[in-house]
Amino acid sequence: MQMPASVLKNTFGYDTFRPFQKEVIENVLARRDTLAVMPTGGGKSLCYQIPSLIFDGLTVVVSPLISLMKDQVEQLRAFGVPSVFLNSSLSAQEYQENMDYVKRGEVKLLYVAPETLLTPRILSLLSGLKVDLLTIDEAHCISEWGHDFRPEYRQIVEVRKRFPDAVCMALTATATSRVRQDIRQTLKFTTTNEFIASFNRENLYIEVLRKEDPTRQTIELIDRYKDLSGIIYCFSRRQVDDLAAYLASRGYSVRPYHAGLEDAERRRNQEAFIRDDVQIVVATIAFGMGINKPNVRFVIHHDLPKSIEGYYQEIGRAGRDGLPAHCTLLYSYADVAKINYFIEKMDGEVKRSAVQHLNAIVSYAEDERNCRRRPLLNYFGESTSAETCSNCDNCTSAPTPLTDITVPAQKFLSCVKRADEKFGAGHIVDILLGSKNEKVLRWGHDKLSTYGIGSELTKKQWMHLARQLLAMGYLKQEGEFHTLSLTDKALESLRKREPILGIVQEAAERVKKDGKKKAAELEYHRGLFAILRQKRKDMADEAGVPPYVIFSDRTLMEMAAYFPQSQENLLAISGVGQVKARQYGDAFLTVVKEYCERHDLKEKPKAVEASRDKSDSHRRYMLIGEAYNAGETVAALMERYRVTMGSIIENLMRYMAAGNRLRVGVDLKALVKASPEQQQAAFAAFDEVGTALLKPVFEKLNGVLNYDDLKVLRMVYMVEKEN
Ligand code: ADP
Ligand code: ZN
Repeated sequence: MQMPASVLKNTFGYDTFRPFQKEVIENVLARRDTLAVMPTGGGKSLCYQIPSLIFDGLTVVVSPLISLMKDQVEQLRAFGVPSVFLNSSLSAQEYQENMDYVKRGEVKLLYVAPETLLTPRILSLLSGLKVDLLTIDEAHCISEWGHDFRPEYRQIVEVRKRFPDAVCMALTATATSRVRQDIRQTLKFTTTNEFIASFNRENLYIEVLRKEDPTRQTIELIDRYKDLSGIIYCFSRRQVDDLAAYLASRGYSVRPYHAGLEDAERRRNQEAFIRDDVQIVVATIAFGMGINKPNVRFVIHHDLPKSIEGYYQEIGRAGRDGLPAHCTLLYSYADVAKINYFIEKMDGEVKRSAVQHLNAIVSYAEDERNCRRRPLLNYFGESTSAETCSNCDNCTSAPTPLTDITVPAQKFLSCVKRADEKFGAGHIVDILLGSKNEKVLRWGHDKLSTYGIGSELTKKQWMHLARQLLAMGYLKQEGEFHTLSLTDKALESLRKREPILGIVQEAAERVKKDGKKKAAELEYHRGLFAILRQKRKDMADEAGVPPYVIFSDRTLMEMAAYFPQSQENLLAISGVGQVKARQYGDAFLTVVKEYCERHDLKEKPKAVEASRDKSDSHRRYMLIGEAYNAGETVAALMERYRVTMGSIIENLMRYMAAGNRLRVGVDLKALVKASPEQQQAAFAAFDEVGTALLKPVFEKLNGVLNYDDLKVLRMVYMVEKEN
């Protein structure tokens, strides 16, 4: 029997499995029914494609996405995997031909739509064959609780009974436990073999920018990804048309996509995008369901999405190939008001739920402090252990230390009070800045004692401060005009003159987005990459398939980095399997050789993935570790970064894991709540079982110390050992 890892390398040209692929494949090969939940781009297809090549018999794949079947089959054939599909998009003749292939046992994989599978014609075809694996893709369609219920899916159960010897695999990117349970029950999975991969897409850089001049901001982003594919999501059809037309007038390669366009035009635009004939699609959320394009390099949300769920799905379309991709959300309060306007017209449960969704995305967008991934993943019921991800705006920027904002905060709060708590933030700021605008004069607000006392900050800084006061609960905002009033907390604070800590935004644009390049990216020759892309495009057009069917961007980048000169070295490149090497290898080798001769370059052997040298200096854990070594206490660090003790400990651990030493501080020891005897017992346990896992230590001590205590103790133990 062939091993999964050798199929991965020889057929698909990949060196390593993605998370859970190996486990899922082995489970299926052991003929256990399996449910695999993986995010978009997680690599679900290989989970059944690899077993299909190892099993003797046929693998049937049920999928509702007719438009994707052709794409899947084209990609498989390019890898040399014999496969066909059957659905209503085929002509009678093509349909019969494909049936004949299956009947003669010439194909390993058959893709079918659920309604096709249920026809007597297909059922009788299959009854004469050995079906080894029945794969149900998009398995959430089985569940009424899913967002895409399809009644035909329920009947697949009947089909299953006809192939008692086939193992069954269900795949989905929708993870709620209710849907999972539904899938298991409906398919009567006897053993509950579930594999749930993390929904964290580490290769996506996630950022939120304050929307100021959205067209300029969009263009700046596009210009960073010259010639590379991207999607821009807008709120309405009109905005899509306007932005697409404007970008086209500026010479960008762009097409619109929304439900208001003719079917044919929509299909044409999508196809042009998939085939790399156009660079950018400007779209409403209608775009993206039926596309599988792996090399989308950026997704821009020109307007605020209506929910976190939708937002995560949309940015999920970027970077399926695992290469870095850039996701930007342009955020303004005006967009919130716009969505609110629509929500106002709703009623009852629908309205309540829309409000909830909006609040969640607004607080996500307003958060300038915490890792962006945390709320996103929490939303899907996943907790992240890491405090920082190093691939979102909030994690890559040095955290802005809190400063004492008591004086400006008191000015703002008392101005709200003096103006009788009847106005929004904009007007309050006008008063503070001593504006002579009509509204200020009409209300006689130029007579207030707070008039013109705020010239130390700009309008933007004041607005930013107002948002913080809202977020911290000093102010509340109500009604259509976002009228501000003071909370009890504010009154108390004014009375007691309590210090207020916050951030004063820098006067110029916030400098947090330092365009520092991610070190994880492969260094490759851009010139050669461009030539290889052109070659790929020509070959793809000739074969009538999308370019990524020939080779992925990753494959071309590696060629442009290692300059393979022989078939053998070509096979070391990611994404080059035996069949592709034979079929397309020579054409690409010729291009590489020519380029190398012209530029006097030599082939470089491809080493095993070099350990990623990320420049660490700006990471939060480095800052925290250094501050601690410089004498700052854990308590002070908790205050400064506004995080829990556990989080500081975690950061210090990372600092040590990165090869740095920590001083033995008294305050660190003071954090330990254990008695000296308990401490000794814990240290003895660490001596015995090591520090990698806490559970064995916890158990050795019969649970007398909880995990938080153990974390601190482990830290002390490690620091003492080091020194
Ligand atoms: P999903 O169906 O989960 O959204 P796909 O199966 O379409 O994901 O895989 C996404 C992309 O990742 C495809 O281009 C695929 O070839 C690639 N891929 C999958 N597994 C691996 C792997 N182990 N190594 C490298 N690339 C992979
Ligand atoms: Zn982060």
